[in-house]
Amino acid sequence: MREPVRVYIGLGANLGDPAATVRSAIAGLAALPHTTLLATSGLYRSTPVDSGGPDYVNAVAALDTRLTAPALLAGLQAQEQQAGRERPYRNAPRTLDLDLLLFGSARIASPALTVPHPRMAGRAFVLLPLAEIAPGLVPPEWLRAVEGQGVWRLL
Ligand code: AMP
Repeated sequence: MREPVRVYIGLGANLGDPAATVRSAIAGLAALPHTTLLATSGLYRSTPVDSGGPDYVNAVAALDTRLTAPALLAGLQAQEQQAGRERPYRNAPRTLDLDLLLFGSARIASPALTVPHPRMAGRAFVLLPLAEIAPGLVPPEWLRAVEGQGVWRLL
């Protein structure tokens, strides 16, 4: 059996009841096989960056998993499908978006998967919740660089 790997997942939703979608997606992550949910950030509200529509609700979850990175990605994509995600066009508003941010210290560049997630560094809606549960992973200069992006922690 593989050793568990510490992974971080970014969650985002901006259609329907996004807070409820994110909460149930966190429950879905906890139910993945060979996986333990370790921590979840609070919920954050953010204005859309590359997509339109209403504000997003975002969060980050930390997991230990014995799944391979491709198997974990497949599990995330199955969950997106279950949440009713449609892709009428690139960066369309989505019911649920799950991003594999970090997979241990792995660096992956395959056609289906890039890890660390290529757009995590410049995005406050990823860095703020990630810093809440793993402050050592987010350099202070990254946080300073995203100051002023429209992101608020929800109570
Ligand atoms: P998006 O529309 O932003 O959810 O992108 C989904 C596509 O990104 C899928 O086809 C994935 O195979 C690909 N992808 C590449 N790297 C990652 C990653 N680190 N996490 C999630 N999806 C990824």
